[in-house]
Amino acid sequence: MAVPKRKTTPSKRGMRRSHDTLRVEAFQECPNCGELKRPHNLCTACGHYNGREVVAIGA
Ligand SMILES: [Zn+2]
Repeated sequence: MAVPKRKTTPSKRGMRRSHDTLRVEAFQECPNCGELKRPHNLCTACGHYNGREVVAIGA
């Protein structure tokens, strides 16, 4: 079984993990209600997509 020759230093570990952060997701305003929504996704506030109501949001 392959075994690492040396323990990874805290510095090297930190350098590797510098790319692990989660990106802030991009959001766009819903043209119908103005809520922020993910692009190419149904608006969770009003249920609209591409100018029409796709899912009725119970109120
Ligand atoms: Zn909306």
